[in-house]
Amino acid sequence: APQAGPMLEVTGVSKHFRGLTALQDITLTVPAGQIRGIVGPNGSGKTTLFNVVSGLYKPSAGRVAIAGTDLTAARPYRLAQAGIARTFQNLRLFAALTVRENVLVALDRSRIRSIWRYAVWQVGVWRHDRELRRRADQILERFGLTDFADSLPGALPYGIQRRVEVARAMAATPRLLLLDEPAAGLNGEEVRQLAEIVRSIRGAGVTVVVIEHNMGLVMSLCDQVTVLSNGRIIADGEPARVAVDPHVIEAYLGD
Ligand code: ADP
Repeated sequence: APQAGPMLEVTGVSKHFRGLTALQDITLTVPAGQIRGIVGPNGSGKTTLFNVVSGLYKPSAGRVAIAGTDLTAARPYRLAQAGIARTFQNLRLFAALTVRENVLVALDRSRIRSIWRYAVWQVGVWRHDRELRRRADQILERFGLTDFADSLPGALPYGIQRRVEVARAMAATPRLLLLDEPAAGLNGEEVRQLAEIVRSIRGAGVTVVVIEHNMGLVMSLCDQVTVLSNGRIIADGEPARVAVDPHVIEAYLGD
C-alpha cells in the first residue's frame, strides 16, 4: 500500500563535535518512494547526517521521524526495526563469511519465524533454516549474485562486493535504504548496473537516500537532490536545476 506522508523527516537537526559544527539546522523531507540524492564537498556533513538518521550519532538538536514516528536518537536496532537499513562508505562485510552467509545473518527473521509459528517444533526448526536459505538465495538471485554465493567477499571484484553490501542491507526488508557512496570505486558498467539495482529497489516500494559523488549517477538516478556545504543545506530541488545553481557551483570550486 502507498505510504501516507513522508518516509523521512529531519527537522532542525544540528550536530556539534566539540568546537566543530558538522550539521547546522538541517530540515529536509523525503517522500515515500523517492530516490533522494545528498551531495556536497568533502566534509560538508553528509555522512554525519546518515549517522544521525541511522541512530549512530545523537543529534545536538532537532528531530528525526520515520514514517511519522519520532525516532530521534533511537538506538540503531530500533531504527532497523522501524525499517531503516544502510550501507557504509567503507564496506563492512563479514570477511570470514560467504556471500550467502553475509545475507543470511542480515535477514529479517521475525518475519520468517511467524510463517512457521504453528509448525511442529522439530520440523519447524528444520523448515525455518530451509526457509532462511531460500530467502537468502532469492535475494542473491535478485541482485545477480547467485554465482558468488559460496565465495568469500574478499575474493571478489570490488564492484561485486559493493553489490553484496546492498543485497545485505535489503535482506532486512527495509522501507528506507540509506546508501553511502555506493558508486565509489566502480567502473562505468558497474555504475550502470548499480543504477538499475537502485531503481528496482525503489520499484519494490523502498524509499532511497543516497550520498554520491558521481554526478552523472546523481543526475540520472535521483528525483531530488539536497546539497550540503559546511553543514548547511545550500540547495535542494530537481537534479538538473541544482547542478546549475550558482551557490552549488561556488561550493564545489573550493573542493
Ligand atoms: P562528508 O560525509 O560530507 O564528507 P562528514 O559528515 O564525514 O562529511 O564530516 C563533516 C564534518 O564533521 C567534518 O569536518 C568531519 O571532520 C567532522 N566529523 C565527522 N564525524 C566526526 C566525529 N565523530 N568526531 C569529530 N568530528 C567529526
